[in-house]
Amino acid sequence: MSRRFLLWAVVLAAGPGLAAQAHPQPASPPARPLAFLPPPKAAPVATINWLTVTGAAAGAAAGALIGTRGLSFAAVAPSQRSAHEWRAGATYGVIGGVLGAALAERLSGPGPPQPHRFWLDRWNTPLIAGIGAVQVLDYTSTRYFRDRGKDEWLLTNSLVDKRAPFIATEISAAAAGVSLMYLLHRAGHHKLERWAAAAYIAFGVVSAIANYRYPATGHALF
Ligand SMILES: [Zn+2]
Repeated sequence: MSRRFLLWAVVLAAGPGLAAQAHPQPASPPARPLAFLPPPKAAPVATINWLTVTGAAAGAAAGALIGTRGLSFAAVAPSQRSAHEWRAGATYGVIGGVLGAALAERLSGPGPPQPHRFWLDRWNTPLIAGIGAVQVLDYTSTRYFRDRGKDEWLLTNSLVDKRAPFIATEISAAAAGVSLMYLLHRAGHHKLERWAAAAYIAFGVVSAIANYRYPATGHALF
């Protein structure tokens, strides 16, 4: 090893340090005191899909119109009429709003990739089947108390006594439950998506039990 090589080796090794002393690095960002915490995430920017909002509004308006104008309240006692109109309008309004929003969301494109599939998923598939099952239970339990002469509380007797419109209503309600899951799925709220379905099923089971008890208890609700 020549002396010159050794000199160059020393200069090269010391160089960066000398250079750093001569030209101090620009100030680096101060170390965070709690370095073990993950770096703060930028707040997610809330974006509003106006097509979905429009779909929700249009669906809710159409539903409210069906619930208040499309049903016959003639057979309802006059003192009960406005309450039934209000409940039917709200029920169909919510169903229409959720269906309209989900349809608009679906039509607005495939959306960002999601961590699981919507229909064929180990949680969603049984939950969707459960929503369908409680809707069937609602149909059979409503028929049960109607056959025993008890009055419908939420909608009207004339509607639930007609097979086709009542089945159409039950299918719409089940579709609204699945649509709510879908909206939460598209928004990235996958836990809430499943909890909403579980709540829908739980509510449906409680409601069906109340319906089956209705002829014995005499009141439509618990
Ligand atoms: Zn999901």
